[in-house]
Amino acid sequence: MDCRADGRVVVVTRPRREGTADLAREIASDVFCLGPWGRTQTDVYFVRAGSSWVLIDAGWASDLSRIQRAAASLFGADSRPAAILLTHCHPDHAGSARPLALAWGCAVYMHPDELPLATADFAAMMASAGPLDRYLILPLMRAMGRRRREAVLARSSLGDVACTFEPGADVPGLPGWECVPTPGHTPGHVSYFRPSDRVLITGDAVVTLQVNTWAGLLLQQSGLSGPPWYTTWSPRAARESIGRLARLEPAVLAGGHGRPITGVGTAGAVSAYARSTADQ
Ligand SMILES: [Zn+2]
Repeated sequence: MDCRADGRVVVVTRPRREGTADLAREIASDVFCLGPWGRTQTDVYFVRAGSSWVLIDAGWASDLSRIQRAAASLFGADSRPAAILLTHCHPDHAGSARPLALAWGCAVYMHPDELPLATADFAAMMASAGPLDRYLILPLMRAMGRRRREAVLARSSLGDVACTFEPGADVPGLPGWECVPTPGHTPGHVSYFRPSDRVLITGDAVVTLQVNTWAGLLLQQSGLSGPPWYTTWSPRAARESIGRLARLEPAVLAGGHGRPITGVGTAGAVSAYARSTADQ
């Protein structure tokens, strides 16, 4: 489907056959999208790098076998990635990261500011909480009592597979790519950018699904959106990050929810969206 945004053509990428949610498809050279699927229209990305590859984001905990099947079909049954990279450490992006890292014998990398979330540090979770956590989830967890809470937190922790990388240094396992800090949704949220062809993988910093309206969520409507407000730590930082991503003038925009977009109008559409959010 082509749609017009800001007077220019934006192409919404689609699976070759609808309903083939277990097959990753190539959306740019060596970049494969698995998704979107489910109520949250989740995407994860596989990126080939020479003779190796990495996984960017790891879906929900229930997505483990879906991701393993896609990896096997792309790279072979016994293939192991160089690394798992996270855009941020929410349960719809890091849910399967620990079992995948243990099965594949690799580390899960993230921005240093994301580590307290990855290791389920309750005090840090309070400090970086969005409204849903602040007013509902965390008070419920506090009411559980310490022992039960610690058991729940231990189950969600990435534990010793969690590693950090320096944002200005090379991206682990991905030569030719850059890490772009995009804080706001969480303190250590990052996006991944390949300058040679302007491919941009944005996690929840910008998504291609209308996650901030009920109709958009329920009907799974396409369209550029910032991160879901109800799970966003700092709306102001999130708006600044959208501006930073627009200035990269992406040719392919691949978010964590919704169908990636490409086409000559992509950069214009992102920049028009960034301008509209800057006025809010
Ligand atoms: Zn998300």
